[in-house]
Amino acid sequence: MKKITTVCPYCASGCKLKLVVDKDKIIRAEAAMGKNNQGTLCLKGYYGWDFIHDTQLLTPRLRTPMIRRQRGGRLEAVGWDEALDYVAGRLNTIKKMYGPDAIQTTGSSRGTGNETNYVMQKFTRAVIGTNNVDCCARACHSPSVAGLQQSIGNGAMSNAITEIDRTDLVFIFGYNPADSHPIVANHIINAKRNGAKIIVCDPRKIETAKIADMYIALRNGSNIALLNAIAQVIIAEDLYDKAFIAGRSEGFEEYRKIVAAYSPESVENITGVSAQEIRQCARLYATAKTATILWGMGVTQFYQGVETVRALTSLAILTGNLGKPHVGVGPVRGQNNVQGACDMGVLPNTYPGYQSVSEAANREKFARAWGVESLPAHAGYCISELPHRAAKGEVRAAYIMGEDPLQTDAELAAVRTAFSDLELVIVQDIFMTKTAAAADVILPSTSWGEHEGVYTAADRGFQRFFKAVEPQWDLKTDWQIISEIATRMGYPMHYNNTQEIWDEMRHLCPNFYGATYEKMGELGYIQWPCRDESDADQGTSWLFKDKFTTPNGLAQFFACEWFAPQDKLNDEYPMVLSTVREVGHYSCRSMTGNCAALVALADEPGYVQINNEDAERLGIEDRALVWIYSRKGKVISRAQVSDRTNKGAVYMTYQWWIGACNELVGENLSPITKTPEYKYCAVRVEPI
Ligand code: SF4
Repeated sequence: MKKITTVCPYCASGCKLKLVVDKDKIIRAEAAMGKNNQGTLCLKGYYGWDFIHDTQLLTPRLRTPMIRRQRGGRLEAVGWDEALDYVAGRLNTIKKMYGPDAIQTTGSSRGTGNETNYVMQKFTRAVIGTNNVDCCARACHSPSVAGLQQSIGNGAMSNAITEIDRTDLVFIFGYNPADSHPIVANHIINAKRNGAKIIVCDPRKIETAKIADMYIALRNGSNIALLNAIAQVIIAEDLYDKAFIAGRSEGFEEYRKIVAAYSPESVENITGVSAQEIRQCARLYATAKTATILWGMGVTQFYQGVETVRALTSLAILTGNLGKPHVGVGPVRGQNNVQGACDMGVLPNTYPGYQSVSEAANREKFARAWGVESLPAHAGYCISELPHRAAKGEVRAAYIMGEDPLQTDAELAAVRTAFSDLELVIVQDIFMTKTAAAADVILPSTSWGEHEGVYTAADRGFQRFFKAVEPQWDLKTDWQIISEIATRMGYPMHYNNTQEIWDEMRHLCPNFYGATYEKMGELGYIQWPCRDESDADQGTSWLFKDKFTTPNGLAQFFACEWFAPQDKLNDEYPMVLSTVREVGHYSCRSMTGNCAALVALADEPGYVQINNEDAERLGIEDRALVWIYSRKGKVISRAQVSDRTNKGAVYMTYQWWIGACNELVGENLSPITKTPEYKYCAVRVEPI
């Protein structure tokens, strides 16, 4: 029996755990003393590991490469050489016929690790010759990255998760910590125990609202109006930090002019929040000695998601809640390595380390390191644009690694059409997901627990994760598969281990350079920036001590007008659907749906949460089956009736194959980040 210390593969809280292994089988998980979890785990950490051994509760593990030689034909098991030759040959042909931009790839924010993401974006840029590489951040926190970079010059959490414990106020906005990141929720509870005030702002009365000093039930889709009004109060009541604004920011006068039009009374009808509550919230936030804002996809998954991120950040600038411990802005990333996927440059506009592809010096540096003459200067396509790009023939092939867009992307009918329009779909995964089942080629990779590398937690924390068991079938690691395809396409790529990849990457990224494998060790936690290899540099807990990382070092105020979400309610579709998470399952459910304990805890295929008064009006009883219709489709689901949800809105998780709510949600992409408006879809609910 042995115990392997590693990092949980689910959310980006970055919990350390020990996998207990007997005769090369994992038999249980135990909590380890990681920086953020300190010997605790949530139920996914304790019970979310048996998928590795192919329980086949939901989908089988992929055990061998497969090729479907003709559309409509069967997938046929083949050997690795044949599969890799086939992929390399077809990608070369498509590149030659249509150009490199006809190929789209994805990194993965799941268990595969930073090194693999680095290799995938290098393959896309240096071998294929396009910047068409993206990841699931497109659907979640790419608006946080874009908004924060514009406002303060860094797209990640400004302060460490553990600093929440000692803040004086936590402002939780559009974020459900108890279900999304239970260990972050523990830190919020710690803050409460230490005397902090908690404000929860969410249309749905989430679990954390139970411990809140103030719960604000704002109306779905009214974020910007509410934030402008909070800012208006802070300025009108002279509660802002004049010294901080004068010394460390610019754009205050323009900001003041825009928010001046948003008195609390003027937005009552938009937000559903009383002027008195808005004033109370503004006073609580602005007068706290230290205040932390945490947000989730209730902020980002709107047409105005980037603008909302900037509005929240402006509140922190306005009150001087940046550039010191226990304050800051916190986009709490979802999947365990979505921060890392972005760090490693699986984004269409940046190389690893957020170095822009549009700057010639960056292109020259990476081209030289990768041994190619040049790299493309224009940003690539976003994965959410795939339906349109495929319909127009601009994209002909997709290489999808560790993602399941046929379950998780908005407007699934359009995504299905896109995948059938493509000439070649390559899926590299550990399970026969919905997307894998539609693929022309399947490349089976090793899973979390069967390989090693580095993850980045939500607060920029690099940590190593380790192999616990040998893979049982004919599998390769993700980075080996990509490297072997690259070599077959005429670009020799070879690494002996993940450390070689990590070292290549950090030599190209000054902010990551000091985070060596040795320094991270088994339990180490190095928050970037970490620029020096010496042991003296153990990373950076909080950012912006002396200046912001904007071009002129100053924080940039931003405000804009609120406008209503894109999808419109009417008599036919009178209610709002918002997609949400549940604690027992994760993302597309391919991993947690194959874990016996988690399946036993939540085995109902989908539900729709509806307010009790709405349910009574519509003649819907608790647990009754209902139809939900939108302009994009209809699904069947089971009603979960309570007063936890607000009137006029319903909520569904997106994990289930039956009642998949992404059949209903239209794209309505943010014009800046192309993020779908998952949080606002007009629907009608009817009893069956
Ligand atoms: Fe894993 Fe997140 Fe739960 Fe921690 S809080 S055990 S990282 S799922």
